[in-house]
Amino acid sequence: MKQQLSMKFIGIPILLSGLILSGCNNSDSQHNPAGDDNHSGSNRAITSQLSTSQSYEDIADAAVWEHPTDATKNLLIGTLEGDGLAVFDSQGEQLWRDDSREILGADIRYNISDGLGHSVDLLAVALPEEEAFAFYAINDDVTNPLTDLGTLDISTLDIGLEPAGVCLYKNTTTDELTISGFSEQGEVIQYKLRYDGSGMISTVNDSMGTPLPVRRFTVGGELSACITDDETGTMFIAEQDLGVWAYGADAENVKARQLVDSITPLGHLEEIEGLDLVYMADGKGYLMIADEGAGFLLYQRQSDYAFVTRIEVENFDEIKVLATSSDALWLGNTELDDPVYEKFPIADLTHYLSAKSVRFLDLLSPRDLEIQDVHLIAAKGETTPVDDDGDAADDPAFWLHPTDVSKSMIIATNKQGGLMAYDLQGNLLQFLEGGEPNNIDLRTEVRDWDNTTFSLAATSNRELNTIALYQIVEATDTQSPIQPLNAVGNNVHAEAAQLISGVDEVYGLCMYQAVDGTPYVFVNGKNGQIEQWRLTTSETGIEGAVVRTLTVATQPEGCVADDTDGKLYVGEEDVGIWVFDADESADTSATQFAKVDGKHLVADVEGLTIFDNGAEKFLIASSQGNNTYVLYDLLNNGDYIGTFAIIGDDSAGIDGASDTDGIDVISANLGADYPEGMFIAQDWYNIDKRYQLENQNFKLASWKDIIETVID
Ligand code: CA
Ligand code: CA
Ligand code: CA
Ligand code: CA
Ligand code: CA
Ligand code: CA
Ligand code: CA
Repeated sequence: MKQQLSMKFIGIPILLSGLILSGCNNSDSQHNPAGDDNHSGSNRAITSQLSTSQSYEDIADAAVWEHPTDATKNLLIGTLEGDGLAVFDSQGEQLWRDDSREILGADIRYNISDGLGHSVDLLAVALPEEEAFAFYAINDDVTNPLTDLGTLDISTLDIGLEPAGVCLYKNTTTDELTISGFSEQGEVIQYKLRYDGSGMISTVNDSMGTPLPVRRFTVGGELSACITDDETGTMFIAEQDLGVWAYGADAENVKARQLVDSITPLGHLEEIEGLDLVYMADGKGYLMIADEGAGFLLYQRQSDYAFVTRIEVENFDEIKVLATSSDALWLGNTELDDPVYEKFPIADLTHYLSAKSVRFLDLLSPRDLEIQDVHLIAAKGETTPVDDDGDAADDPAFWLHPTDVSKSMIIATNKQGGLMAYDLQGNLLQFLEGGEPNNIDLRTEVRDWDNTTFSLAATSNRELNTIALYQIVEATDTQSPIQPLNAVGNNVHAEAAQLISGVDEVYGLCMYQAVDGTPYVFVNGKNGQIEQWRLTTSETGIEGAVVRTLTVATQPEGCVADDTDGKLYVGEEDVGIWVFDADESADTSATQFAKVDGKHLVADVEGLTIFDNGAEKFLIASSQGNNTYVLYDLLNNGDYIGTFAIIGDDSAGIDGASDTDGIDVISANLGADYPEGMFIAQDWYNIDKRYQLENQNFKLASWKDIIETVID
């Protein structure tokens, strides 16, 4: 049987090693300790260095607590089903044991703060009989390594869930903590947690104080393990007889799950038992799968989750339980008459893998996973959800009332079918159905043919590949604020009085008003073409003419013009931000303003907007890939100033913004909530105060909160 299995894998590592090498920097190979013979691991299999001192009837799961400075003080936490919970030192000596209750699953997160200067390293386990999670603080006191932090009762729900395992998730942008439990029946339940200085509590509760889950979903068949990648926000869940799934780890994330690998003959797996992750200093790392039949398998941690290799382990019939740390790997040897955990030095694994050309160096302790340098801003408000489900809300534009700021509005697109006007509290004032408006922009003081001024808005209408024009007026009992305007003259579509664009699939759009008052529209298409339209008002409507065509190499969308400086900023989604001269007679060359660097700016670059209050001027970009917004100082060479995220406020029942498309900002004093202006961001995942999914909407944040937090 064993022989057969290894036969099956012979071709695969060889095939893949080429792929892995090509994916690495050339410099990687220099760091491989090839030829280093000072390790006990051979090239054929890894060998256990030591075993735990005691054996147990059952071994369910394990996790390693890493000491901040001294790996010899690391602790192995073992969950032992009916045998309870045990803590071992790095030599496998049992230090502590509680066999009073049945315990399954174990996961650890570091530096969980109460916000008042106290923090704990948190251990979470599952109590299946009590339908609860139990929490402990871990410390390096060998006589008393675990301190009770209480339990979270999940039996109060209508449909109880008997947790068979747990995984913790600490969002590296927001620092928010959640726990997910899975049942053998294929259900997953997730709660948001907070450390209150003495115990762990649910942050979302009903009016009676009963903890409410923030997410509950069905995976399918029997579940056997889960683990969450905090860096990428991915929750891996093992469906024992089907495969390993990757889900979004955030409660709001409803993106389609992805299959990492499946059972033979389609995949490499047979009966999945355990999952773990290793992080590496270069941002890479591996997902590890313990499989009762297929053994111990390694996958790329990110993106396509490519299978890397199988690791042969000496004297193990089945691998069911695994726990890694930056210096050692522990595997549960459950097929022995007296099951134990066995320890394998990471150095041996590195040596073993380097012989297979797999880089396994510079492991990063999960303790050292950094909370990104992101300033967190709680949303002050949100608009009502849009009419359509799925990806619908896209781009906002702020309309400032000329005399009474309280009557200002947010005009925004629902790209599946219309335009909305909202008041400053986010209430819907109008839904103008029609078209597929993708982006919107407006200018409030456009001179009409009779010398009066009016507010002119433009949208990119993907239904007809046109630019649609509107007048924005104050909303009254008798007057709707968004009023279509007719395009006239040449270039008008036969089915609607809108300007026909020549770009391939209109996409992004922004307006520009030159110092002489002339209004322009920039509209771009997926192939990188950007048309500049000059608009001319007449008694019968608005005439449009293309005065220039600009290009970027790949798909753009977000754009914004700086009217006072005569510049156009364009986001090329995977590449960065470009700046063009916005003048219709200027040359069409572009300079790179900012680059997608995977750090400050993470693809896609989406919405762009400019904050300008006369004294300060910032370009703000939606860095969609890491759910943040990046601030550049336009009065100081476009210097990077900082990054912020819009987070939720559970006490107000408002959620945060993530996966943002369009953004807009206004610098006016809009009253007590928005004294220095308002920042508006589209939110892909909108939930209600009970964390139930709703249609998409727009989040509203106070500019004062943003600027005082980012520049402190
Ligand atoms: Ca806009
Ligand atoms: Ca995108
Ligand atoms: Ca886009
Ligand atoms: Ca968009
Ligand atoms: Ca999008
Ligand atoms: Ca949200
Ligand atoms: Ca909401």
